[in-house]
Amino acid sequence: MNFENFIRNIPDFPIKGIQFKDITTLLKDSEAFPMAVDYMYAPFRTEEITKIVGIESRGFIFGAALAYKLNVGFVPVRKPGKLPAATLSEEYQLEYGKDSLEIHKDAINSLDRVLIVDDLLATGGTAAATCALIKRLEGTIVGLTFLIELTQLKGREKLADYEVHSLIQYEI
Ligand code: AMP
Repeated sequence: MNFENFIRNIPDFPIKGIQFKDITTLLKDSEAFPMAVDYMYAPFRTEEITKIVGIESRGFIFGAALAYKLNVGFVPVRKPGKLPAATLSEEYQLEYGKDSLEIHKDAINSLDRVLIVDDLLATGGTAAATCALIKRLEGTIVGLTFLIELTQLKGREKLADYEVHSLIQYEI
């Protein structure tokens, strides 16, 4: 299956200059969506995994589907102020300014082997902050899997310690 055919490019969304990769066109397809989830998992199929960590918000969609498939737990990493119980927080750099992500303190422990899931790898700031949260909770990071990678933004360089997989690469 050519997954690229299911991704819709929206120029200048949400701001001028961004080529937004719209995945809703893949999600609504009854064959492409489950097949994409299977392919996102395939490189890690020989690994022991105890938790899927999904990054808000589109990482929840792929991550939850994968957790169900693997019969393992799902842990959300969220934007600030969304998680109700005690959290750890990690700041990361945006192009302009800073943002942060949070995880529940009791979501991961030292016995966990974690696969991180998101829809898209751009600069890698979001994914690197997520790795930092999991390491602070002493979890083992098995790897990271993305549907899409924007290769020119070199997000992989921020994730050099980990196994990183993506299904579709764009060189824009
Ligand atoms: P980054 O931290 O730069 O790797 O950005 C990754 C996060 O931002 C992911 O959660 C994506 O959903 C979102 N994102 C960044 N760039 C795009 C884009 N061009 N199209 C769609 N989503 C994007």
